[in-house]
Amino acid sequence: IKESGRNSFQFFAEEMNQKVNARLTIETGLRRALEKGEMLLHYQPRLEPGTGAVVGMEALVRWNSPDMGLISPADFIPIAEDSGLIVEIGDWVLATACCQALEWHRMGHDSLRVSVNISARQFVGHDFVDRVVRIIEQSGLSPHFVELELTETALTHNVDETVKIMNRLRERGITISIDDFGTGYSSLNYLKRFPVDVLKIDKSFIDDMVKRREDAAIVATIIGIAHHMHMKVVAEGVETAEQMKLLMEGNCEEIQGFYFSRPLPPEEFERYIAGRTVP
Ligand code: C2E
Ligand code: CA
Ligand code: CA
Ligand code: CA
Repeated sequence: IKESGRNSFQFFAEEMNQKVNARLTIETGLRRALEKGEMLLHYQPRLEPGTGAVVGMEALVRWNSPDMGLISPADFIPIAEDSGLIVEIGDWVLATACCQALEWHRMGHDSLRVSVNISARQFVGHDFVDRVVRIIEQSGLSPHFVELELTETALTHNVDETVKIMNRLRERGITISIDDFGTGYSSLNYLKRFPVDVLKIDKSFIDDMVKRREDAAIVATIIGIAHHMHMKVVAEGVETAEQMKLLMEGNCEEIQGFYFSRPLPPEEFERYIAGRTVP
């Protein structure tokens, strides 16, 4: 087609085509990424604000593609979810994170807890609990050190079923948290219905809490409600000393964010904890 002959529909169609192609490239690559060992985990420390002690870490997946370089989860997790590959990737993430945590326990950091993200697609699978329990068992790590982070979208399917699944996991000693808390449409309703141990306050509330009284009030209120319901609170996306100070005064149990550390490759995480915690 000659340049002058293009109309806006053709531009649109070509752009669509490129997007579809990029998606297909990612999906095809993803199918083989696990067997080729291209997936890796970074770990972001979670700290107790009062003592500065590292109490755990969130495992965050990355894909090191030979063709495309290091790809962030935002760019491939949605595709993995649509294609169903997330189930296999999710199993790998949980297994790898548990083995890594056990290794760090054996190095003397034996109270570290590890949290992993669970997609809705995994959670609604009929054998989700069995898979999780088996993977943790095979790793050798006690389930008491494992936390599963669920977003509100994972919880909207069937309330009774979700409650049952959560109870089965908790009976095993596994911790359940709600990720990105406050960003859904019926967050408070979830608290009433679901047996949850931890709330992770979404970064969007933390971002403006120093500047805007409304956001500070929302954060304080979430912490208050959580404590009334015997839940712990983790603040995500903490980037400044002021945020950190406000959260500490508000009795937030754990902090996660660039203020302390970005997600780190395992060797760097090891150096980070060696420098901070007294075993
Ligand atoms: P998330 O679970 O909410 O994870 C937190 C994200 O915020 C991470 O991005 C982390 O690097 C980033 N972050 C942490 N602290 C700060 C901060 O202080 N400032 C800023 N600007 N960002 C901060 P990441 O690693 O790119 O992950 C993005 C999302 O991808 C995650 O959001 C999660 O929804 C998803 N994800 C990552 N790993 C997995 C996984 O293994 N399984 C599934 N299902 N989803 C995953
Ligand atoms: Ca998370
Ligand atoms: Ca989050
Ligand atoms: Ca190692």
